[in-house]
Amino acid sequence: MTDTSADLVILGGGSGGYACAFRAAELGLSVVLIEKDKLGGTCLHRGCIPTKALLHSAEVADAARDGEQVGVKASLEGIDIDGVNSYKDNIVKRLHKGLQGLVKAHQVTYVEGAGTLVDSKTVEVDGTRYTGSKVVLATGSYSKTLPGLELGGRIIASEEALNLDFVPNKVVVLGGGVIGVEFASVWRSFGAEVHVVEALPHLVPNEDEYLSKQLERAFRKRGIKFSTGVKFTGAEQSDSGVTVSLENGEQLDADLLLVAVGRGANTAALGYEEAGLTMERGFVRTDERLRTNLDGVYAVGDIVPGLQLAHRGFQQGIFIAEDIAGLNPPVIDEAGIPRVTYCQPEVASVGLTESAAKEQYDQVETFTYDLAGNGKSQILKTAGAVKVVRATDGPVLGMHLIGERVGELIGEGQLIYNWEALPEDVAPLIHAHPTQTEALGEAHLALAGKPLHVHG
Ligand SMILES: Cc1cc2nc3c(=O)[nH]c(=O)nc-3n(C[C@H](O)[C@H](O)[C@H](O)COP(=O)(O)OP(=O)(O)OC[C@H]3O[C@@H](n4cnc5c(N)ncnc54)[C@H](O)[C@@H]3O)c2cc1C
Repeated sequence: MTDTSADLVILGGGSGGYACAFRAAELGLSVVLIEKDKLGGTCLHRGCIPTKALLHSAEVADAARDGEQVGVKASLEGIDIDGVNSYKDNIVKRLHKGLQGLVKAHQVTYVEGAGTLVDSKTVEVDGTRYTGSKVVLATGSYSKTLPGLELGGRIIASEEALNLDFVPNKVVVLGGGVIGVEFASVWRSFGAEVHVVEALPHLVPNEDEYLSKQLERAFRKRGIKFSTGVKFTGAEQSDSGVTVSLENGEQLDADLLLVAVGRGANTAALGYEEAGLTMERGFVRTDERLRTNLDGVYAVGDIVPGLQLAHRGFQQGIFIAEDIAGLNPPVIDEAGIPRVTYCQPEVASVGLTESAAKEQYDQVETFTYDLAGNGKSQILKTAGAVKVVRATDGPVLGMHLIGERVGELIGEGQLIYNWEALPEDVAPLIHAHPTQTEALGEAHLALAGKPLHVHG
């Protein structure tokens, strides 16, 4: 047994783990980064990047199909799924290579293998012990299923959905959250019949209800079926298909059932509980500075209760590195983390929903700017809206967007929210014409009492 010691030992090389490693190395700390699979984790290999590549292929398919609407003669001959997969896989490969280069450039000691936590300073990999003055746990998450619903065959999770070598004719998607609606969107664009089942009353149920309703309307227009407020009761598969039963008696036949009912924390059998970590429904409990109950042990990313997003993991990783280096970084405001669902149309938000804002503030005001008044959105032929929530006479509390490409607008949205700007601060700032950013500008102009392109 050879022992290696460092300032920091990080278990898991996904978004949270590697961001922490790079920032710590920049700050002069020695770092051991342990990864059992591929550097980059879920986001790069099984999450953000490959799904967004599929969504781009879907967008191009829609553009070919709808070319005539803008006077371009084009037709969609079909989807070459091998071509789609190689386009997607090449992007992942290139980014993976880039990331491996960054590990070397930062002089991080990279260890391949499955690690277990031995105590608050030690992680063991294949009999070798790595000792850190501090330890960061970053082991990520896995696709959950429902009790009695076994994954396998025609019942798949997002990992399998990303690597299909065919386009299904008919799919049922269980779960109308981010992952479910993104796959529903891709498959519909590729020509499949899609039915989404969601137990809660709306699709994207964590979003402001206005966005959920707008998305439902857009999905109806696209021919994506959905059943909301109804529970799944069972699924039977055969050689030819899968039949999904709902509690209202409805039965849905499909080629595939995608189970997208959330992600559990990957914390079992890693020595966490044995080492004395306080857990919470499988997640690692931390304080707001991401410290666990064990002295010197931090947790980052999807294993920490809250939004499971890659950029949250990046920011938490940077935070921990800076905290350990004594820079005393400010606590991360979870509501200030931008959220984007990349289906067609896109849904993007930051800050509080209107109902959450009303619970926390005495008086709030909202303004909703319809993209019908935005020239660039009309050029793109997208419907949608920008809804801004503010405290009366106070700062912007939340922004909720729907429409083609609005994910790109949330960059400005998060600056406004996180800087606690007033609509009156934003109103004089200039937005280029014609861009969709003008819709953000218009909403703030209106809330500041000087609407420009607003009817009524
Ligand atoms: C289909 C899908 C689409 C997504 N799309 C987006 C998106 O568009 N935008 C977004 O922000 N987020 C998206 N996410 C979420 C995002 O992928 C996660 O929030 C992010 O990857 C979490 O980072 P992490 O570091 O906590 O965990 P992970 O990325 O899961 O990394 C954990 C790493 O730890 C390793 N590991 C686990 N156990 C051990 C062990 N014992 N020893 C060594 N290594 C170990 C794993 O192999 C893994 O590489 C998506 C997720 C999915 C599934």
